[in-house]
Amino acid sequence: MSIYRAIEQETIRDGVLRTLGNLRDVIIKTLNDHPYLLDYAQEVKKARLEVAENFDYWIDRSMKILESRGCQVYHARNGEEARKIAGEIVGSGKIVVKAKSMVSEEIHLREYLQSLGNEVWETDLGEFIVQVAGDRPMHMIVPALHYSERQVMEILKRVGIRGSDAESLANGVREFMRRKFLKADAGVSGCNAFSAESGRVFLVENEGNIRLSTSLPEKYIALVSIEKILPGDDLALKSVFVQSAYVGTFPPAYINVNEKVDGQEMHVIFVDNGRKDTVFREHLACIKCGRCQLECPVFQLAGSIWGGEVYGGPTGMIWTAITEGIPESCFLSTLCGKCMEVCPSGIDMPEMIRKMRSALLTGRLEG
Ligand code: SF4
Repeated sequence: MSIYRAIEQETIRDGVLRTLGNLRDVIIKTLNDHPYLLDYAQEVKKARLEVAENFDYWIDRSMKILESRGCQVYHARNGEEARKIAGEIVGSGKIVVKAKSMVSEEIHLREYLQSLGNEVWETDLGEFIVQVAGDRPMHMIVPALHYSERQVMEILKRVGIRGSDAESLANGVREFMRRKFLKADAGVSGCNAFSAESGRVFLVENEGNIRLSTSLPEKYIALVSIEKILPGDDLALKSVFVQSAYVGTFPPAYINVNEKVDGQEMHVIFVDNGRKDTVFREHLACIKCGRCQLECPVFQLAGSIWGGEVYGGPTGMIWTAITEGIPESCFLSTLCGKCMEVCPSGIDMPEMIRKMRSALLTGRLEG
């Protein structure tokens, strides 16, 4: 969809504003009630940027600890390498259940595994709706925000799920998914934070589907984009607390701390894809909470269509520049600064967007 058509589509605007209305006060109240979360956010940012100064050391250390715990570990330089590694682990003719993960979107993993002849299912409710609709996620955390209840009803009929309201539809999806979980050969997740101290993968959620996707299948694949590496468990835990607070779900219903267990293969793929050498280093502190997206006046009009193939909105401008190349639509930013104001890491996205514009105009990208 072109950005101009997206702007005309009222459901995107309505969905973004509805979600913002639902979440803004909750987030503000959470931060007022638990002010230490603001300190955690700063600690996590500092640690992430220190790790980014010396990625080789931290990746090597992380790989060694995982190997010592019996995991199979891989380092993918780009999306294609990451896809291939995952494809070789899964094989073909398998059932794969997938937890919601932006890095898996970034490397187009679901489509690739399907092209190998696998049945692949998103297990997050919003992602599942987007998958069945043949659409793309419209927001990092609330991917199906642009659909009304009636539209969801119609979409889910395509896979035989019927219901008359949100609750009965969610129950229908749960039943559908339960059958897939029980038959799944492989489970895939991303990672909210990775501890280089223990080799543990931290994942935060409210639905419980990540827990099932990563624990029931015989093979478990964790995709860890390298900026998620933190020195220790304490920082990893603080990171998931901050993420949960900034998506309005603090305290989270589930924090999964995944490590190798008997009877299951655990594969961990570290994904670089432009991160190690980026000049947009400060953005590696982004915890992908999606708050800047909801608050951005341009995103409120066009959703994630304003951005690259995968990432949209203010944070999406920078993630696209890191992983795909500078999007020309960076010229549509108003540079109002609201993104930076609400960002838990205080990332100066307007300044980075200015640099991107200058690079497109002059052909020189300043560090
Ligand atoms: S840039 Fe900041 S507000 Fe936006 S998604 Fe990342 S952490 Fe959240």
